[in-house]
Amino acid sequence: MALRHDWTKEEILEIYNKPFMELLYEAATIHRQHHDPNTVQVSTLLSIKTGGCPEDCGYCPQAARYHTDLEGNDLMSINQVKAQALRAKASGSSRVCMGAAWRNVKDGEEFDNVLEMVRTINKLDMEVCCTLGMLTENQAQRLAEAGLYAYNHNLDSSEEYYKEVISTRGYQDRLDTIGNVRKTNVTVCSGGIIGMGESEADRAGMLVALSTLNPQPESVPINALVPVEGTPLEEQKPVPIWDMIRMVATTRIVMPETQVRLSAGRTQMSREGQAMCFFAGANSIFAGDKLLTTPNPDVSEDMEMFKMLGLNPQKPFVKKSQPESVDAQNSKFQAQGEKPKWSRPGHKIDRNLEAQQKAKTKA
Ligand code: SF4
Repeated sequence: MALRHDWTKEEILEIYNKPFMELLYEAATIHRQHHDPNTVQVSTLLSIKTGGCPEDCGYCPQAARYHTDLEGNDLMSINQVKAQALRAKASGSSRVCMGAAWRNVKDGEEFDNVLEMVRTINKLDMEVCCTLGMLTENQAQRLAEAGLYAYNHNLDSSEEYYKEVISTRGYQDRLDTIGNVRKTNVTVCSGGIIGMGESEADRAGMLVALSTLNPQPESVPINALVPVEGTPLEEQKPVPIWDMIRMVATTRIVMPETQVRLSAGRTQMSREGQAMCFFAGANSIFAGDKLLTTPNPDVSEDMEMFKMLGLNPQKPFVKKSQPESVDAQNSKFQAQGEKPKWSRPGHKIDRNLEAQQKAKTKA
C-alpha cells in the first residue's frame, strides 16, 4: 500500500481507539510488511553539552530557569565523545545521538567541534545523529557534509498543545528546522512526548503533523514523560503502559516505513510492556543508564531482555539509504525536461505538476 500523507485527526483517533487486540494485530501486520520484527536498533544518546538552556520546555530539567538537581556541563571534548562512542559500539549500539542543550546552533568554535565529532563517529562506522536545537539551512548543509546521518528535532505534541508546554519558540520554528534538514541528505528524526497533560486528540494531532510531512520522518521517537522535580510538569502522573502501546501502534500504522523509537520512560515500563511495544511496531530503543539527563535501563538489562525475546540489535545503515537532497531530486526532474517536483522550503509535492503528468499519461 502506498504511503499516505493525508491522514486526518479523526482517522488517527479512530485507529488509536480501536479495540486493543484489533489495533495490535493491524500494527503488527504492517510492521512485518515493512520491517524485520525480530530486529531492534540500539542507539546511544550522549549529552555533549548539558543544562543552561535558555528555552522553557516545561518537561526539561536542562532549562536554566527551572531549579532542578541537574549538574550542567560545557561541551565535551572530541576525545571524550570518541571514547563514549567506542564504548557504545562495543555494547551493541549502531547509532550515536549527540544532544546539546542549545536554543539554536551558533556558527563558531563550538559548532566546528561538533562537526569534527560527527566526522569522528562517522569513521567508526556508526550512524551519527545530532539534536542541537534550531538550525539554518547552511548549518544543516555543513552537518550533512561532515557525514551526519540524522538530525533530531521533536515536534513534542500537537500544534495546539505545544503552546501549553513551550513559549520561547513556536511550532513553525520547529517545522522550519525540519524543512532545513530536508534540504540536505540528512534523515529526519522527529517525534514527541506523551503524558504532559495532553488529550488523545493532541496525540493524534502530533501524528497528523508528522505523517503529513512528505517525506515522512525516517525516525519517530515516542517518549513517555519522565517528570522531573523542579520542572513545571513535575506533578504529572505516569503514562499508563496501554497508552504507550496504543501510541506506538498508531504511529506504526500511519508511518509504516519509519523507525519507531521507544524512547524516554522505559524505566517505568515492565519487560512485558516493552515486548508489547516491540510487537506493536517499535523497532528502536536508547541504551545506556541515562537518556540525556533522565534514568534509563542499564545496557546489560536490555541485552538480557533482547535474549529473552529473541531480538537482534540492528546493524548500522541497514535501513533505507539516506534520501537524496531536494536539489538532487529536482536536477533529475529537470534533466528529464520536467519542472522541479519538490518545492523549497517545505517539500510539498507540486499538485499541478502531478495533475499535468496524469493528463500527459492519459493522452
Ligand atoms: S528540551 Fe532542549 S530546547 Fe527545550 S529546554 Fe531542554 S535542552 Fe533546551
